Amino acid sequence: MKTERQLLDLSLLPCHQLTGVVKKLSERLLRLGIHCVQDVLFHLPLRYQNRTEIRPMRQLMPGDPVVVQGEIDDVTQPKVGRTRAMIRIKDATGHLYLRFFHMTASQCHTLQPGTVLTCFGEVRLGTRGLEMVHPEYHIGTVNISVQEEDSLTPIYPATDGITQTMLRKLTKQALQLVTNGGVLKELLPSSLLKTIAFPTLQEAIQFVHRPPATVSVEKLMQGQHDFQKRLAFEELLAHRLSLLQLKKSFQTQRAFSLKNQGILSFDFLRQLPFELTRAQKKVAEEVRHDLNEPHPMLRLVQGDVGSGKTAVAALAILQAIESGYQAAVLAPTELLAEQHFHVFTHWLTPLQIQVVLLSGQMKTAAKREALKRLVEHQAHVVVGTHALFQKNVQFAKLALVVVDEQHRFGVQQRAQLREKGTYNHCYPHQLIMTATPIPRTLAMSVYADLDYSVIDELPPGRTPITTRVIANTRRDEVLERIRIAAASGRQAYWVCTLIEESDVLQCKAAENTAKELTAFLPNIKIGLLHGKMKNAEKEEVMAAFKRADIHLLVATTVIEVGVDVPNASLMVIENAERLGLAQLHQLRGRVGRGAVASHCVLMYQAPLSYFAKERLAVMRETTDGFHIAQRDLELRGPGEVLGTRQTGEVALRMADLLRDSELLPQVEHMADQLQQEYPDSIPLLIKRWLGKQQDYGHV
Ligand code: ADP
Ligand code: MG
Repeated sequence: MKTERQLLDLSLLPCHQLTGVVKKLSERLLRLGIHCVQDVLFHLPLRYQNRTEIRPMRQLMPGDPVVVQGEIDDVTQPKVGRTRAMIRIKDATGHLYLRFFHMTASQCHTLQPGTVLTCFGEVRLGTRGLEMVHPEYHIGTVNISVQEEDSLTPIYPATDGITQTMLRKLTKQALQLVTNGGVLKELLPSSLLKTIAFPTLQEAIQFVHRPPATVSVEKLMQGQHDFQKRLAFEELLAHRLSLLQLKKSFQTQRAFSLKNQGILSFDFLRQLPFELTRAQKKVAEEVRHDLNEPHPMLRLVQGDVGSGKTAVAALAILQAIESGYQAAVLAPTELLAEQHFHVFTHWLTPLQIQVVLLSGQMKTAAKREALKRLVEHQAHVVVGTHALFQKNVQFAKLALVVVDEQHRFGVQQRAQLREKGTYNHCYPHQLIMTATPIPRTLAMSVYADLDYSVIDELPPGRTPITTRVIANTRRDEVLERIRIAAASGRQAYWVCTLIEESDVLQCKAAENTAKELTAFLPNIKIGLLHGKMKNAEKEEVMAAFKRADIHLLVATTVIEVGVDVPNASLMVIENAERLGLAQLHQLRGRVGRGAVASHCVLMYQAPLSYFAKERLAVMRETTDGFHIAQRDLELRGPGEVLGTRQTGEVALRMADLLRDSELLPQVEHMADQLQQEYPDSIPLLIKRWLGKQQDYGHV
């Protein structure tokens, strides 16, 4: 150790003070976000291995993380590409293959028959039998009982040029510093810690890096130890605090206050053929209130599919326009942008409001015209897709951005649009609408930087959708249903799904299905809709479907969001087992929008996996978006459900939002207390846990 034994703040001690950290390594450590010794200690293991016992090869099972010891008895290398190798090792009970895709020259030299190896790795079933791929190994026998003391072996997140061995050496030194009086600051106030009865930070850190070998690896992976909970709590707290700070920083920014009499809104509501639901009125009121303020609104409106979010957005837009500003509506797909364009044109033109569309596919001349009208303030509302982010899009006076189906847009993209609307040091207000219902506690922690409203009621007069799950082999019955629906003047969707990632193949499949269905259903007018069609073609098909000139619309999942044709009452989804719950719910939400009873048929290809079966069962049992979201969380985990906001942007190290959700109320409480009584701890906590991702949420 280069440093003397003294009271050292480990958050101020740079990594290169540790033995073995040369310049190159410290540069690589930066890639893992590790700057100081404290960062080393908060670089937490992903999993653990029990290396305190050697497993006889005869007992190996695929999936086992194990230690084996044996002698190389065969090395196979291809004639070309000699860095690849299959190495066989044997012990008294059996053998195992080691598969290397790339070996260094020195590895080629040392890994020869007769060499004894101790290998650590996960066993899997390979082409020749059980194998380990690129195992960690030591040459010779290792006296397991004294090796690695008597703790489980941590496996860390690593990167090119940083091995597990290096990370273990570093954490070992860092832990020794803690034992020898290096300071790992306790940032949770002791009065508050007592009420929760958590172990100390030092104990917790020591435990997670080197858990005693007596602890079960399985239990550790479930994160149920007090020490783990302690860290999970602190991490969730840090995340919440950082989002709250972000929110605070918005509140100090300026925006145009859109206070007015609401004449346009009044006129709009009078011409609307329905009355707003109680929930729509409540949320619209919250939005109106926000827009009156001279600070940018940042509000998330959650409302199940069909709950009428568009009307709420329209009211916000009218408020901006009445005050003399413009509004932009951002949609995730071309199709949805066009649909919004039609709806807003239909609603707003009678009020002398000019709406323009800006889509990626538009002809240059049309685009230029739309851009001109925007910058000259002849247009009040622009509806568009990603095309709105382009540099040449300029506004005269943008004061409101509406983002529909927010989960499709990254935080970065929204930030770009926000900057566009900045002039006179004012930011545009943002209204974000999503149909992904998230349980409240979860939403509160993930979206703590946003204000949050829920439209928790559907417009009246909707009849519930009945859902049936049937095998692909019973296609005839489905065709019969379509005939019946068409005969009684109703319309249907047929959604094709494909495993292939490729859009082209998806579209091809839809084309083929449309052909096939046309042959089977000669008296029924069938339309086709997919992502590769030209805008004009798509619009034509949608318009024909709206006019009921088309009875059956065969489509890819492009119709997932927003498409609104109330007379369509039958939804057929082919290979429904391939889709997630959220997507199925969105798709099903295309029907059940009118007064007639609607049906959804989920066709599947047997055999079904456990999860696929569960998903289809959930769909059959309920149409409640919140219930579906809860089940989705349980089946998939929050990372996937929440999309980009969780993956990458807010990667959690220790906590798991679902597993640790019982901590969230306490986290909320402590965050409030820290803000009031211990504000100095806040930046330290955020730095410790979020480090360089700190500014992930600058929206
Ligand atoms: P979503 O929340 O999924 O975006 P939409 O805004 O597309 O829902 O609304 C779904 C349908 O319900 C549209 O046809 C819309 O005109 C209609 N709608 C909205 N609000 C009401 C209401 N209060 N009463 C009756 N119909 C409504
Ligand atoms: Mg919508």
